[in-house]
Amino acid sequence: MSVKPILRFAPSPNGLLHLGHAFSALFTWQAAAQLGGKALLRIEDIDLARSKPEFTQAVFDDLHWLGLHWPEPVWRQSERFPAYAEAADKLRAMGLLYPCFCSRTEIALHATGTDPDGAPLYAGTCRHLSAADIAARLDRGEPVQYRLDLQRALALTGPLTFTLVGPTMRDRPQIRYTRPERWGDVVLQRKDTPTSYHLSVVVDDAAQGITHVTRGRDMEAATDIHVLLQFLLGLPSPIYAFHRLLLGEDGKKLSKSRGSPSLLDLREAGRTPQDIRRDLGF
Ligand code: GLU
Repeated sequence: MSVKPILRFAPSPNGLLHLGHAFSALFTWQAAAQLGGKALLRIEDIDLARSKPEFTQAVFDDLHWLGLHWPEPVWRQSERFPAYAEAADKLRAMGLLYPCFCSRTEIALHATGTDPDGAPLYAGTCRHLSAADIAARLDRGEPVQYRLDLQRALALTGPLTFTLVGPTMRDRPQIRYTRPERWGDVVLQRKDTPTSYHLSVVVDDAAQGITHVTRGRDMEAATDIHVLLQFLLGLPSPIYAFHRLLLGEDGKKLSKSRGSPSLLDLREAGRTPQDIRRDLGF
């Protein structure tokens, strides 16, 4: 029996959606239709300080306005913390997580380069803290985050690959090697929220039976970590497809912080869903 394709669009409700999100959503729904499957909407609101209910509502309104529909109930990651804790505990039991007490300043000071997102590459400062030191610092209530011990993880997995399909979803799939070393010891449980983007996305993609992950090219490098976590947690690895990014006049990715108009702005300025779809090529 063949598995029916399940795709997802998973925005973080910490701002209004702009054309880049519309492109990604339309791409995902189109790919789902081409594959004869369905597209889910998932709200990635693990960042409790930045996520706002009004932005979640705006996601629903904007996507409905674009003519998109999805099965209910919509999963919200803020309701899934126990599942992420369980996954983190599994990695901890395998000896793959360690506590890190470093501040942003310390991390930047000792950085050994930058990761694919341009963030300072962690030097591993806390990797070899003694058990007594850790206990004392936890006792004092020092803010703590938990990192993946990448070298140990790689010693268990060896080189890993993933399956990539081109954005038309029709080409012959390719096998790609991952390069998790370029991320260093990533944070899997943050100081401000007991999970991280990488951990929750991997847990939920598996729990929702996602067969194809469609996202922008800017997130291609994160697949290194996602595939590694899938292997370590014994989860299936979906097929990946990366779409082009919409760039602003400055040649940079659209973003609300750089003044890209939101879908709401465009709607209020009289643009119709048909205009948006046509402009974006759907
Ligand atoms: N929530 C992520 C974002 O809005 C995207 C999730 C994903 O495709 O993995 O950037």
